Amino acid sequence: MDAFEYRHGELYCEDVPLREIARTAGTPTFVYSRATLEGHFDRLQSAFAPIDPLICYSVKSCGNLSVLRTLAARGAGMDVVSIGELHRALEAGVDAKRCVYAGVGKRDDEIIAAIEAGIGLLNVESESEFENIARIAAALRTVVRCALRINPDVDPKTHRYTSTGKKETKFGVDLERARRFFQLYGRDEYAKLEGLHLHIGSPIYTVEPYVEALTKTCALIEELAIDGIDIRSIDLGGGFGADYESAQSPSAQQYADAILPLTVGLKARGVQFFLEPGRSIAANAGVLLLSVLYTKHSGEKRFAICDAGMNALLRPSHYGSFHFTWPVHPAEEMVPPIRSSTLTMPGLIAQDIVGPLCESGDFLAVDRALPPLARGDLLAVFTAGAYGMSMASRYNSSPLPAEVLVSGARVELIRRRETVDDLLEHERDVTVLI
Ligand SMILES: *Cc1c(COP(=O)(O)O)cnc(C)c1O
Repeated sequence: MDAFEYRHGELYCEDVPLREIARTAGTPTFVYSRATLEGHFDRLQSAFAPIDPLICYSVKSCGNLSVLRTLAARGAGMDVVSIGELHRALEAGVDAKRCVYAGVGKRDDEIIAAIEAGIGLLNVESESEFENIARIAAALRTVVRCALRINPDVDPKTHRYTSTGKKETKFGVDLERARRFFQLYGRDEYAKLEGLHLHIGSPIYTVEPYVEALTKTCALIEELAIDGIDIRSIDLGGGFGADYESAQSPSAQQYADAILPLTVGLKARGVQFFLEPGRSIAANAGVLLLSVLYTKHSGEKRFAICDAGMNALLRPSHYGSFHFTWPVHPAEEMVPPIRSSTLTMPGLIAQDIVGPLCESGDFLAVDRALPPLARGDLLAVFTAGAYGMSMASRYNSSPLPAEVLVSGARVELIRRRETVDDLLEHERDVTVLI
């Protein structure tokens, strides 16, 4: 699953005790494992090898430059949803041709920058967006490859905030309009509409929604063929699950085994495939390392107040997500046998793990059975690599956490901790505008 494990009663990332990382980097800190990032990427690559996809890692899941460089060195392209993310990918040394760009609200300056950089594919989400891209590409006299993001109306059975392939969501174009879309725009001279893009939600813990979406996509491709339109690329999106609890998610091989049989005919016709995994690569490759500042009681409730909460990891309060949380150096008999929301062991006490912010929604875990905690204890919040740092905020003027990358016995600081002075950087100089 990942390279975070307890040895002799203490949590290690690869060959390094987390306690040593807290001593040198301080807390709150995101700790990533290089071996886990690489292992997850390699397993996807080998599971999907029969269709030889370009695996475009989703930058928004965890976009630190060193993380991007690690994956690019393995052969990853990048999936971006803003010009800021494309800038990160380019800075990490990824060729723009190996980047795909989605997002419902691309601004003109973003489209221009992406075309000028030589983006691999623009994933188009509406008629009005396509017309704008075609206008800009013609003005620049530059050909840009485009794919239509289709909304196949399947239910990924995930949180409604991260369900993106149902008709009532804002993403893509529904199947009824897709055929008309190609008839209208399929012969544009500069914006070359030649592919289909799917991203139906995240995390998706069963293979069926992918099978259903791809089956509908294949039917659309047949209809388009009748109209004389040849689909050259299919982007299957991301959304593969991660193990927030032990063995919760299908393996890369299980996803591939369900998806690949539907691709045989397409592969034979020379269709190029893309995947856009984020969470399945990054989530289990990171933990959030925290210190307990205080413990307190209120009525029946017990709280452990930590040095970060929703400012560092928004998922529990935003989506109600479960993140397994445990002391970094518990007593030997308190080492957890699995990561589970229903874990029971003698001596555990129900506690809320909360942050320091002035919000009742500032929690990481509620009524969670944990070993007794005390001021100064270190806690690891597991499976925090994806949508952790990338969704972190500076609310309450909280400096962003540090990030470190562990490779075997080596630990690198890959983002220094912000200082309170950093927070003021964009406010010191005031300019008169009007
Ligand atoms: C967020 C996103 C992804 C990645 O989703 P994961 O669940 O992290 O795999 C892929 N493609 C698009 C278009 C996205 O918006």
